[in-house]
Amino acid sequence: MNLMIATRNAHKVGEIRALLGSQYTYWTLEQFPAAPSTVEDAPTFEGNARKKAVELARWLTGQPLPQTEGKAQPWLVLADDSGLEVDALNGAPGVLSARFAAEVGEGNASDARNNAKLLRLLAAVPAEKRVARFRCVIALVAIRPIELKPFDRLFPQPPESNLLLGGACEGKIAFAPKGEAGFGYDPLFVPDGYEESFAQLGESVKNQISHRAQALKQIRERLSGGVVCAGITRASA
Ligand code: IMP
Repeated sequence: MNLMIATRNAHKVGEIRALLGSQYTYWTLEQFPAAPSTVEDAPTFEGNARKKAVELARWLTGQPLPQTEGKAQPWLVLADDSGLEVDALNGAPGVLSARFAAEVGEGNASDARNNAKLLRLLAAVPAEKRVARFRCVIALVAIRPIELKPFDRLFPQPPESNLLLGGACEGKIAFAPKGEAGFGYDPLFVPDGYEESFAQLGESVKNQISHRAQALKQIRERLSGGVVCAGITRASA
């Protein structure tokens, strides 16, 4: 099966591939530079994940998709929307995590600027009140070649419905960034049960306990169980 990951974030792609394994042919937005970017204006992770997956799946139905081994094959579009919720900031940055330190109309801010803003806002907050969690919601939408009849059994619902699965990872925000691995707020996030940040713990630990790992574990179970989601039907593969 072809799995299209709706992101240009190489770190997300790496984590998703590591967690889902080698049985898929993976694609990302890097291989489809003409794909339109989704405006992430939904107020929830669910809304943004769904929007990213559905918009990309719709666009892909109009594209000549590469076919592995020359055969019509199902494509799944997977979109991850994720972010950090900090209790002392009433859940911010939340869905605005990537844009936290950006000026209006600027797009995303760098990880360094986002982390610096977070530390500034939490400067007076003591250790025990720096409670936070990462959240991740993954949306799956299928694009099915119309001639691929057996595929209907896997994706029985009406077109364009989708599957949403989420995960969360509880922790605390450190007083200074530490570690080099990962991306985003990883240098500041210390998961419960550990003394080190995600960026210090590295991929092997992060991929066992993270918000994304938890969401992807459910996706893996659904995919191996053969029941996933509905999709957009593609007239010719
Ligand atoms: P998205 O690409 O719109 O989902 O934005 C996600 C943003 O949330 C990223 O740019 C990071 O700032 C933050 N984020 C999400 N997941 C992680 C993670 O696993 N580690 C660190 N930061 C993350």
